[in-house]
Amino acid sequence: MGNAELEARRRQAVSRAVGVTTEIYAVRAENAEIWDAEGRRYIDFAAGIAVVNTGHRHPKVLAAVREQLDRFTHTCHQVVPYETYVHLAERLNAAVPGDFAKKTVFVTTGAEATENAVKIARAATGRAAVIAFAGGFHGRTFMGMSMTGKVAPYKTGFGPMMPEVYHLPFPVALHGVTEEDALAALDRLFKADVDPARVAAFIVEPVQGEGGFYEAPAAFLRELRAIADRHGIVLVADEVQTGFARTGRLFAMERTGVTADLTTMAKGLGGGFPIAAVTGRAELMDAPGTGGLGGTYGGNPLAVAAAHAVLDVIAEEDLCARAEALGARLKQRLHSLAGAVPQIADIRGPGFMNAVEFTHPGAGTPAADFTNAVRQRALAKGLILLSCGVYGNVIRFLAPLTIPDAVFGEALDIIEASLRECAAEA
Ligand code: PMP
Repeated sequence: MGNAELEARRRQAVSRAVGVTTEIYAVRAENAEIWDAEGRRYIDFAAGIAVVNTGHRHPKVLAAVREQLDRFTHTCHQVVPYETYVHLAERLNAAVPGDFAKKTVFVTTGAEATENAVKIARAATGRAAVIAFAGGFHGRTFMGMSMTGKVAPYKTGFGPMMPEVYHLPFPVALHGVTEEDALAALDRLFKADVDPARVAAFIVEPVQGEGGFYEAPAAFLRELRAIADRHGIVLVADEVQTGFARTGRLFAMERTGVTADLTTMAKGLGGGFPIAAVTGRAELMDAPGTGGLGGTYGGNPLAVAAAHAVLDVIAEEDLCARAEALGARLKQRLHSLAGAVPQIADIRGPGFMNAVEFTHPGAGTPAADFTNAVRQRALAKGLILLSCGVYGNVIRFLAPLTIPDAVFGEALDIIEASLRECAAEA
């Protein structure tokens, strides 16, 4: 059955609320390549939205999962626990930044991780309020959606939102929002809306993902840390998209020198198997009562086995260094095109969490139309790209960190050709 026929069936059978970026149907995937229902091969610069950082079907991940498959697939850790869950918690407690005793809970999705971080912060502080950022993304559940700083499509029609969630502007110099602006807004918030003594948590992405790949300035995070300490507020780093070598470090917070109290993880942790986690200060993690956290599938044995292999592969293949090298090559190529493509307003991102932002030449307004044209042109040439940003005018590059040099070079050529052609036609 071809793509068009499958697409027609999808439209009949699946809620339209589940959006899709491409209308090609996956049949097979290997490292950084996907083959569709018509036998066409694509280079994957989405990696399942920053999930298969270690590539599709990494042999070590597959071997670990196969071995677990032959032992047991599910007991529910809350009923009959298993050593691999405990060991993975030990490994994350050691790996997550922070020179203090840590504990971990496993859940299944990124949204569940951010939900649970709020539950933990509330239980530990006895406070209710949460401060998040405009442009941030934290999931589609009620608290995740409420903390997300983008209305359409995430909140449209779903209100009322959870109470006691406040948003600050995220400092993005490119858009004229300085660190001082964001801190002044926080000061106003504390004066006008919420007593800092009632705030349980700040939640921040060290690099905003869905919001547009904007890196939080280290100085701003330092200030947020100081304010959190002054008022007894828990600092949550949402590393769901930034985690697991993507930014050239295992965690993006390592780049900033700032330590969060709680870290949320998902996506890259499982290398394609659904697993998420909250790791943080042991005393905070122990604040909720026994039975207050968890879930039937949290820390599923197959996903735990995959996560162990992912951590091994990141270390063995030095994927942090690989992320830096790939990102440097991509950014260099994009910079070389800036003259030929006047829509390029910014090229950015640490490691291989890179993006290019487009505006209309002269006017400087967000160029979502151009962004879409580039994405579609690249797809026609066999490269899967994703957009992001509150205005949909950013293309993000999220290839597996294991992508072979030759395939990466091919992708760079497609990116260049797509940008040049779309600029010439604009
Ligand atoms: N937090 C961040 C930073 C994310 O990027 C995402 C997913 N894009 C989530 C939370 C939610 O993760 P999930 O889709 O697994 O619920």
